[in-house]
Amino acid sequence: MQEIHHLIDGRPVAGASGRTSAVYNPATGQQTGEVPLASADEVDAAVASARAAFEDWGATSIARRTALMFAFRNLVVDNADEIATRLTAEHGKVHSDARGEVARAVENIEFACGLAEHLKGSHNEAASTGVDVYSVRRPLGVVAGITPFNFPAMVPLWMVPNAVVCGNTFVLKPSERDPSAPLFIAELFGEAGFPPGVLNVVHGDKVAVDRLLAHPDVKAAGFVGSTPIARYVYATGTAHGKRVQALGGAKNHMVVLPDADIELAADSAVSAAYGSAGERCMAISVVAAVGDVADPLVEAIKVRMEKLVIGDGTDPASDMGPLITAEHRDRVAGYVGGAADQGATVVVDGRRARFDGGGFFLGVSLLDHVTPAMDAYRDEIFGPVLCVVRCDTYGEAVGLIADNPWGNGAAIFTRDGGAARQFQEDADAGMVGINVPIPVPVGYHSFGGWKDSLFGDTTMYGPEGIRFYTRPKVITSRWPDPATSAVDLGFPTNE
Ligand code: NAD
Repeated sequence: MQEIHHLIDGRPVAGASGRTSAVYNPATGQQTGEVPLASADEVDAAVASARAAFEDWGATSIARRTALMFAFRNLVVDNADEIATRLTAEHGKVHSDARGEVARAVENIEFACGLAEHLKGSHNEAASTGVDVYSVRRPLGVVAGITPFNFPAMVPLWMVPNAVVCGNTFVLKPSERDPSAPLFIAELFGEAGFPPGVLNVVHGDKVAVDRLLAHPDVKAAGFVGSTPIARYVYATGTAHGKRVQALGGAKNHMVVLPDADIELAADSAVSAAYGSAGERCMAISVVAAVGDVADPLVEAIKVRMEKLVIGDGTDPASDMGPLITAEHRDRVAGYVGGAADQGATVVVDGRRARFDGGGFFLGVSLLDHVTPAMDAYRDEIFGPVLCVVRCDTYGEAVGLIADNPWGNGAAIFTRDGGAARQFQEDADAGMVGINVPIPVPVGYHSFGGWKDSLFGDTTMYGPEGIRFYTRPKVITSRWPDPATSAVDLGFPTNE
């Protein structure tokens, strides 16, 4: 049984609250570890370490901050396989998918390595006679990150590299369900040479989160997770005077027009709906099939689903692993039965799949003739269930997206450039894909949805991340007329 520890001031610290939570291997259903749940006092210790570290770190040169970030980047790349192994062991995603998560995380570290360019500020000479005005961006101090179970390596690295290169120090509260990968990454961070206290990790639940949101020394909090908790974190953190960016859940639509390449659309729908067991905030959960594309598309998706191999993520043959917990699997399965009761056609019923052992597996499901009134459409299922809503027109399909409370991603599949361009304007979502089902922006753009998918006014990572982790300072300076300077500058005199 793995004993998981906090990481405070560069040292492993055993939990002292007496409260713990079990960590499972979802592929076997066996408990593999125990994670401590921090008390407010333990959070205070981590914040105190980060605050002390900020005294020097905030004043450390950009050159040094960048050099350490390069070293960290190399350690993460060198240890990508070990990180992916930890992801598979506690999250359940297949190893190749876990390697993909690490690759997307590295993009964000690499962006942070070039942050000098973004921290340049701006300068106006002679705004008035003898007056110059210039702007710089300063770090905030101690910042916190609260992250979800579904990307335990990538989401912390959406936050930490940018925050730290901007000169802040960090307290990370990763998901208590799969804490080993983020903890290992924080250890690599120390190995790279970052001073103790620049990145601290406290494990925990609501108690730890509430203390971070109330702590007077925490200046900003980044959150990624479900919409109800995102809303709560935003309201609570801002009520305590902090900057908060809180990314919530999603219900992402993929509109397929009658002229689309059906093979491409079906491949994309299957990988985007069932990859990582549908436990992705950018997973496609609704296909809006326009006109007569629906029948052939549903058939093409069904054929592909039959070929998916579901099994332990350590097996290279597996395309999809288990869900995160038994309770979550049962909840997801409930939506399939519920949709059938409410009038949907169950084209493929994942509940029928049989698995040996005690893992939290569920087969893949495809629901056709789903309507917006059904629970399977209204709720974020966060599992391997794809809903097909049949639409008569393009307008009906974009209307679905507009009426949906979430607005993370939206995609269109078409060969028509005009229709695609119209969709990029009409789609009521923060990230849009054109023949791309999961349009997660690269690390030098920024990530974030609209509506109930994001609370706050900056999106995450990339240029918006820098804005979130810094505050502007504008300096207006006036110097005496050079002719009156006490130092002889060689100006001609009247004598
Ligand atoms: P979650 O909201 O249950 O947990 C997220 C974090 O909040 C965890 O660290 C958890 O410990 C903490 N937390 C849980 N309950 C809390 C409470 N009552 N008070 C304070 N903190 C609490 O989310 P999850 O199940 O870990 O992750 C899945 C969810 O995250 C899905 O809804 C998914 O769409 C969303 N997600 C969104 C994005 C995005 O970029 N928008 C990315 C990844 C995941």
